[in-house]
Amino acid sequence: MAIDSHMHINSIVLNDEKKYIDLINNNSAIESVINVGLDLKSSKESINISELNPKFYSSVGIHPLYIESQNLEVLYDLADNPRVVALGEIGLDNTKNNFNEQKKYLIKQIIIANELHLPIIIHSNNCNKQVIDIFKGYVKPKYGCVFHCFQPDLEDLKYLVSNGYYISFAGRITYKTAKKSIEVAKIVPNDLFLIETDSPYISPEPLRGETNETSNIKYIINKLAEVRQSSYKEVEEITNKNAKRLFRKMN
Ligand SMILES: [Zn+2]
Repeated sequence: MAIDSHMHINSIVLNDEKKYIDLINNNSAIESVINVGLDLKSSKESINISELNPKFYSSVGIHPLYIESQNLEVLYDLADNPRVVALGEIGLDNTKNNFNEQKKYLIKQIIIANELHLPIIIHSNNCNKQVIDIFKGYVKPKYGCVFHCFQPDLEDLKYLVSNGYYISFAGRITYKTAKKSIEVAKIVPNDLFLIETDSPYISPEPLRGETNETSNIKYIINKLAEVRQSSYKEVEEITNKNAKRLFRKMN
């Protein structure tokens, strides 16, 4: 059974949340999912869902594209819940030019995660180096970190791996253009990678363009097994173990 370490069931893209929750609850190939918050509203909704559905865990945080007038103090209360396993997704995104604001939110949220002894889930859109600079210059995540949907770069990978940080593979690795991701997938250590769908976004091949859902995690596992000359079962077992090591509250 697989763990989808990053998805958004209460995304505005899905207008039938109940249907997608049931699909996961009834799918015997899925052990659990982490339903990731993007702002305070979606974080609260995520907690409600995970309190009602044992396969669901939550992550709470403010995504860099949604930082406007969000009260970060609320995160202390939200994260103080047995179903909340991480702070995220937080990070930097270069499609908006409010970089200084984004950095302030990221730094503050890493500090909160450290105070709460929680790992963080990083969103980095063409900003790996800038996120790493924040780790080096301001504050390092003390209780673990994963770069979700990792944008491949061997130098960044080296830094992350040497600090015991994780990377996560999503649908992108199944694309024909994913040469660099495949290079990264070949060399990342067994104990430092996760899998995710990021559903309802970025569907894997052969379903590109369709609404993504957690059952599609199988395409990502298959690709990793092929690239790492491993078996489906082994990739599933390794990534389960890794997810439970990073997100300790899942145990
Ligand atoms: Zn996401």
